[in-house]
Order: sequence, then C-alpha cells, then structure tokens
Amino acid sequence: MEAVEILLRGDTLIFPTETVYGLGARFDHDQALRSVFEAKGRPADNPLILHVADASWVEEIADDISPRAHELMKMFWPGPLSLVLKKKDRVSHLISAGLPSVAVRCPSHPLARRLLQEVGVPVAAPSANPSGRPSPTREIDVLEMVGKVGGILLGGDCEVGLESTVLDLSGERALVLRPGAVTTEELKEFLPEVERYTGDPEKAPSPGLRYRHYAPDASVIVLRGSERAIRSFIVSSPKTSCFLLPFEWDLPFDQTRIIAFVPESDLEAAASQFYALLRDADKAGMKEIYVVEFPPEGIGEALTDRVWRASGGRVKTLEDA
Ligand code: AMP
Ligand code: MG
Repeated sequence: MEAVEILLRGDTLIFPTETVYGLGARFDHDQALRSVFEAKGRPADNPLILHVADASWVEEIADDISPRAHELMKMFWPGPLSLVLKKKDRVSHLISAGLPSVAVRCPSHPLARRLLQEVGVPVAAPSANPSGRPSPTREIDVLEMVGKVGGILLGGDCEVGLESTVLDLSGERALVLRPGAVTTEELKEFLPEVERYTGDPEKAPSPGLRYRHYAPDASVIVLRGSERAIRSFIVSSPKTSCFLLPFEWDLPFDQTRIIAFVPESDLEAAASQFYALLRDADKAGMKEIYVVEFPPEGIGEALTDRVWRASGGRVKTLEDA
C-alpha cells in the first residue's frame, strides 16, 4: 500500500477511522509530528493520541499498565476508546505535549487496522481538521487538506462520526475527559469508580478541552422550548437560520428552509451526521444553526458535549406564547 510508504518515510497521511478521519505521523519521527501540528494549526500544548494495531503494542509506549487498563483494552478494543496511561520515555514530548502521560487507542476501521499492521509502529493522529473546526467524517471533508499533507487514504463515511472517548487512567481517579461512543455508563460496568470530568475547562487535565472546538463559521445555538414555541420560532426566523431537530416532530413544511431532521430514537444516526451538518450549513451560507437538546443517553452524552462546545455555551430559550 502506497499509504504505508508515505507514513514510513516520515510524511503525514490522512486515513479513515470509525470515529473521524485522522491525520497521522509515525510516532518516532519528530519532523513528521511537527508537520501534523503545522498542517492543523494545532497548539503545541494539545497532545496527540497514539494509534496501535493491537493491545500488545501498548507495552512499548506506556508504563505501569494496570490490570483494569488491560481489562478495558480486552473489552473495548478495537474501538472508540482512548486510554491515557503513564508514558514511556521513548514517546516524544511532541506527542504528549510535555505531559507525563500518553493517550492510546486501537481503531476498528478495517483500513486503519491494515495500515497500522503494515506500518508496524504506533501512529500519532489527531482529527484531520484545521484546529477548532468540525472534525472530518466524509471523503469530501478531507479533500480540503490536499496540499497540506503527504497523502490521503479515502475510506467513505466514518461510522461513529464523533471523536473517541478519552479515559484517563494515569492518576488516582479514573476520569472520562471526553465522552464518546463508549459511554460512561458502559465503562461503569467494568470500572464502577469512573467519573466524568466536569471541572473548569481552563484547568482541564486534557489540554484539548480548553480550546473552542468543532465550530463552523455559522453560530451554533442550543434551542430550548416546547415543540409549539419552536414551531412558531422557525416560521418567524430568517432564511439564513437552519435547524437540527428530531424527525418525529410535526413541523411546518417549508421548501426554502433548511431543516435537518434526525431521528430522536436513533441518536447514533444524529451523532454520525452532526459534523457533516455543520459543514454543509456553512457551505449553504447559513448564519445560525439552531440545535435542540438531545437526550444525554448512550451516544447522546457525546453528542450533547459536542453541540455544547460548538455553541460556545450560546442558548436561546423560547417562552410559550
Ligand atoms: P483529537 O485527536 O484531535 O481528537 O484530540 C485528542 C484529544 O485527546 C485532545 O482533547 C487531547 O487533549 C486528549 N489527549 C491526548 N493525549 C492526552 C493526555 N496524555 N492526557 C490527557 N488528554 C490527552
Ligand atoms: Mg480534534
């Protein structure tokens, strides 16, 4: 595979995973790692996740791997769970951004797995978007990175569509730093002591949590109110406002207005399309993207987190007339 050569010679490569497209560099090549930060415009204090072909590779990059970490790898890998562990010295400070820990994940996407097996060393890969923008989940989204990277391996749409769960096991407490498709509830079954990090983002143990994230050019606004109030709000809003709403709602039909319906009963579908909708709303010249709140169960936990971050906390609350 040509893609393997690109990584082996120390170039950067965009490749598909089941969460979002990643921008990879081999873990032992500082120049390639610098190119990843440069291509994304990523702040140097935001560490990268190392991708491995299987759990046996973790011994090469992490120390003090606890029995609970081994058990989680057995249960959830390959899959959308990144584990933060104590790093070995050979992991570059560029990857860990100066932290004593490193995040590791084993993706399940068949192309990513084959790539990692053939490359034979861990690959550092953040999401393949310019820093702060929505992560790329489709082929068309990564094509905007042509010219900034060594190559692109196309693999269709990403199944999950939101970034991996980041679980910190490097300290005393087991903390979910970023929710993802592996939910806090699921983790609790194996690790009853696990907690969601809910502290001040400025002091977040995961530097990535401090930055404004996943934001399109349009303003994302969380919309609160009854179905009825939202219905009249839509009718009176300008045509540059678009809406992301549950499919089950009975809304006024209006051909000229963009309303993206997602099935409330199928939060996986809503999550997998969220970033694509943000990107498409920008392309259609929308100025506001109103998003209703989804139930925070299952993948809804991660979706709610990403909607909240994209909105920067902006909320529109509608009163009933
Ligand atoms: P991305 O790969 O773009 O999805 O971002 C990776 C996320 O994992 C960011 O939020 C990072 O801050 C987080 N992360 C990576 N390594 C570590 C680490 N050693 N400790 C805590 N968080 C990490
Ligand atoms: Mg990212």
